[in-house]
Amino acid sequence: MRLLKDKIKTEGIVLNDNVLKVDSFINHQMDPKLMKEIGREFARLFKEEEITKVLTIESSGIAPAIMTGLEFEVPVIFARKRKSLTLTKDVYTAKVYSFTKQENNEITVSHKYIEKGDNVLIIDDFLANGQAAIGLAKLVEQAGANVSGIGILIEKSFQPGAEEIRKQGYRLESLARIKSLAGRKVQFVDTKETVYH
Ligand code: 5GP
Repeated sequence: MRLLKDKIKTEGIVLNDNVLKVDSFINHQMDPKLMKEIGREFARLFKEEEITKVLTIESSGIAPAIMTGLEFEVPVIFARKRKSLTLTKDVYTAKVYSFTKQENNEITVSHKYIEKGDNVLIIDDFLANGQAAIGLAKLVEQAGANVSGIGILIEKSFQPGAEEIRKQGYRLESLARIKSLAGRKVQFVDTKETVYH
């Protein structure tokens, strides 16, 4: 997606060979116009899937997920990273090791909001090792629902998550794919390049 790639080129900050900072348009300050376009793009990519719910993880996935849910006209759910006092039982849980915080989180979603027969689209901001996306997929499967696909804003293709997700049989669509962050430079995967297929 050109708009997202342009933003990454102009405003993304490469912290080191593994981490890209996008605080000015995704992770702290957010760009609503970009989020709207992202929602449209996911709606276009997954239009055949009869999506009934969009699922993400707090907090940075919420903005793109809500714009996607708006396009599909379906509810949006965010998995919680910390146990909530009001969400103690009747929850699906999965363990997720956080790439950025380097700690284990038990992510939860109430039984009420994902049901058998739902076609769930999972949305997240980044894909690194795939822990967050696969954890979310496990929650969906615990509910007996179907993972219709995984939509990612920024895939770091040089890390193992993308391959792992495809190996597990999920449909993955990433709007920007990064080949390398070496030398403080963002190099995108050329869309003509076939690295996975
Ligand atoms: P994974 O679970 O795939 O290892 O990592 C994905 C999660 O870690 C995302 O939800 C995102 O919050 C965070 N993350 C992974 N890599 C980056 C990165 O390069 N920059 C930022 N800002 N967050 C990242």
